[in-house]
Amino acid sequence: MDQAISTKLSLSCQCKKMQACVEPIAPKLANHLTCYCRDCQKFAVALNRADDVLNEYAGTTILQVPIAHFKFLEGKEHLGCLRLTKKGLYRWYAKCCNTPIGNTLNGGWPFIGIIHSFIDDNKLVEKAGVVKGSVHIKEASREIPVQRLGPCGHTQLVLATLQKLALWKLQGKHKPSEFFDNHGQPIVTPQIQAH
Ligand SMILES: [Zn+2]
Ligand SMILES: [Zn+2]
Repeated sequence: MDQAISTKLSLSCQCKKMQACVEPIAPKLANHLTCYCRDCQKFAVALNRADDVLNEYAGTTILQVPIAHFKFLEGKEHLGCLRLTKKGLYRWYAKCCNTPIGNTLNGGWPFIGIIHSFIDDNKLVEKAGVVKGSVHIKEASREIPVQRLGPCGHTQLVLATLQKLALWKLQGKHKPSEFFDNHGQPIVTPQIQAH
C-alpha cells in the first residue's frame, strides 16, 4: 500500500468547531454514492443548507462506512439529531453551523452514511474510492444526464450496502459508537421534524 496515503479520513463541520475522522478508511471499507431521495433533500432544507449540500439535481453524496470507525476529536457537544418522521433515520448534524454530518439507522446497525458536507479531506477519492453511482433517481428534481449517474445502478448499490451491512454486523462494527449508548439509545434526543 502507498505509504503516502494515510488511512485516516479527516472530517469537520463548516465552522471547524466539530472535528472528527474515519479510521481506518480504504475504498473497500466504504460505499460512496449519491442519493436523490426526498428525505435527504428535506434534511438539507430543514438545516437551511440545500444550496450547498444538494447538487443541481437535488442529490446528496454520501460515504457509507462502519460506525465503529467514526471518531469525534473535538466539539462533540455541538452534536444535534433530527428525524423527519417518528421512525425515520437518525440524521445527525453540527448545531454550531448547521452542517449535516450523516445518517444512521438505530444503535444496532453497524454503519453511518457520512454526508459530503462533513468531509474535509482533499484525498477523499484516493482514500474512499470514487462515487459508484446514484440511488432513488426518480426523486431527483430534474432528469439527471446519464454521464452523471455513475457506473452502478440503484439495485446494485443497495445490494452492495446490504452486503457491507451484513459483513460489518458479523465483525461487530456497530460498537463502539459515537452516536448511540450501550443500550442502543441516541446520545442526544432527536428532534422530530415532520414535513
Ligand atoms: Zn460548526
Ligand atoms: Zn436519501
